[in-house]
Amino acid sequence: MCGIVGYVGREQAAPILLEGLSKLEYRGYDSAGIVVRDGEKKAEVIKAKGKLENLSEKTNNGLDIKGKCGIGHTRWATHGEPSELNAHPHVSDDMNVVAVHNGIIENYQELKDKLIRKGYEFYSQTDTEILTKLVDYYYKKYKVGPIDAIAKTMVRVRGTYAIAVMFKDYPNEIYVARKDSPLILGITDGDCYLASDVPAILKHTRNVYYIDNLEMARMHDGQIDFYNLDGDIVPKDTVEIKWDAEAAEKGGYEHFMMKEIHEQPRIITETFNSVYKNGKIDLSEIGLTDDIIKNISKVTIVACGSAYHVGMVAQYVIEDLVRVPVRVELASEFRYRSPILSEDDYVILISQSGETEDTKKAVSEAKAHGAKTLAIVNVVGSSIAREADNVFYTLAGPEISVATTKAYSAQLIAVYAIATEFARVKGKIDEEKYNYYINEILTLPSKIEKIIENKERIQWIANKFSSAKDVFFIGRGIDYAICLEGSLKMKEISYIHSEAYAAGELKHGPIALIEDGILVISCLTQEDLFEKTVSNMVEVKSRGAVLLAVTTYGHYNIEDNSNYVTYIPKTDEHFMASLAVVPMQLMGYYLSVSKGIDVDKPKNLAKSVTVE
Ligand code: GLU
Repeated sequence: MCGIVGYVGREQAAPILLEGLSKLEYRGYDSAGIVVRDGEKKAEVIKAKGKLENLSEKTNNGLDIKGKCGIGHTRWATHGEPSELNAHPHVSDDMNVVAVHNGIIENYQELKDKLIRKGYEFYSQTDTEILTKLVDYYYKKYKVGPIDAIAKTMVRVRGTYAIAVMFKDYPNEIYVARKDSPLILGITDGDCYLASDVPAILKHTRNVYYIDNLEMARMHDGQIDFYNLDGDIVPKDTVEIKWDAEAAEKGGYEHFMMKEIHEQPRIITETFNSVYKNGKIDLSEIGLTDDIIKNISKVTIVACGSAYHVGMVAQYVIEDLVRVPVRVELASEFRYRSPILSEDDYVILISQSGETEDTKKAVSEAKAHGAKTLAIVNVVGSSIAREADNVFYTLAGPEISVATTKAYSAQLIAVYAIATEFARVKGKIDEEKYNYYINEILTLPSKIEKIIENKERIQWIANKFSSAKDVFFIGRGIDYAICLEGSLKMKEISYIHSEAYAAGELKHGPIALIEDGILVISCLTQEDLFEKTVSNMVEVKSRGAVLLAVTTYGHYNIEDNSNYVTYIPKTDEHFMASLAVVPMQLMGYYLSVSKGIDVDKPKNLAKSVTVE
């Protein structure tokens, strides 16, 4: 998530840091900051909320800040609202340690409690301040130097991070470490650079080091040394970057959408881990205690676009697991139809940006009726997050592509966690079943990876349909909900007219439109409904349709009834949407590419719909 830069060398650091941060703006951020040290003098920390321009203005484009060693950060808030106080760098009480951090420290609360017991005080709401002070604590306690202090911290924290740290006692040095968050280090004759992504340093050097997971590095005197967790030196060679600058911003992928599709396994893990503690789902930090959950007797889900499709999946999953009635509503309809709600209702609002205008109004409407509200939102501190009684933050990070992929997947995971925990609290599932569902959720990331590995097959199929005019998606139950999302992907980025139908509805109209060569994509992941959907496939095939089936490995007899099949791994049927949607995302993507469309910015669409 977001960006880190660093520089130590022969030039003035601040302008280099600001320029580097500007190259990471595409990653999305809500505030920015830098720290620069001028030799032995006190480090100067400057932060600003909002655009990088605000920081540049405060520092006269960095020219007013003296010093040749510094680090900088663009923040995408995960812990604590976007504000100048929460912006990085964060400092220990006596400025002994200053740090920037990308990622999430999962056990921040326990570490904070420990540090408070040791006399530390906290000024921000971030996990990063805790991390910074933990480094300071170990540094002072063991007096073993920066590398060992950072190593001890790494052993103690859980989560994902790329960090850059400066120590008062080492004024011309920068220390970095990483676990699961991106970080590269660049070098020239006499200068050292660090960044979350290549574009930030491409202007200065193409010679970079890749720092591995759980490694640390020390940048000093035009040299970079690498260390493992034991503090032993790890030898490394530089690699020459050959990408052009634009390709670099997409991490080597041709489009942000493809990059974001690939990020799904990681963000699913992070989102689930935010509520998964010691082998159990724990929603208490979201404000959902067992008592509150026990009293929920009906649920209304309100959302727009893909988030509405998540709501459709949620309806099936929550009703089946929790046995409470769930109603799903389009926010634009809900807000104007005088909904019948009371204090007994529990309203879940889903929105990536947290600024979707119709969904925003729906929160107010629900609250005006006395209903309790829970927002499932990606952007910390967004309007919907602020207004709802409780918030479940998805940890998808900034999503650049207009067509959502990873935020949709993160929302699904939030729904699964809620459904599973509600079912346990309400006594609808026993411990064994509870553990089984959790384990199934934990397997989703590796299964998604497997689907993505086979993406060439989908590309091959997509290329055959680049001139398609109409496409139908059919499925039943959760498969129908998945089809709604598959169909939307197809429309929004391939500009192909497509419709999703509950397969049983075909005979009530749409079958009249089936003619020779029309592509019908069917989704079959629900065992009980499999034969029923196959019958619908046969009906359209006999009228000339070309069939693509998305189903699980093992259903090989489907090939008798389909022209093309794409197989996905099995998981518990409640969670199949997370897997089946991936080939559909890829199908939309490849069709869009084959038609020469600007995948990331389809015409007429905006990322965040802040108007009615
Ligand atoms: N978790 C940190 C925060 O909320 C870092 C977020 C980031 O990656 O920018 O401040």
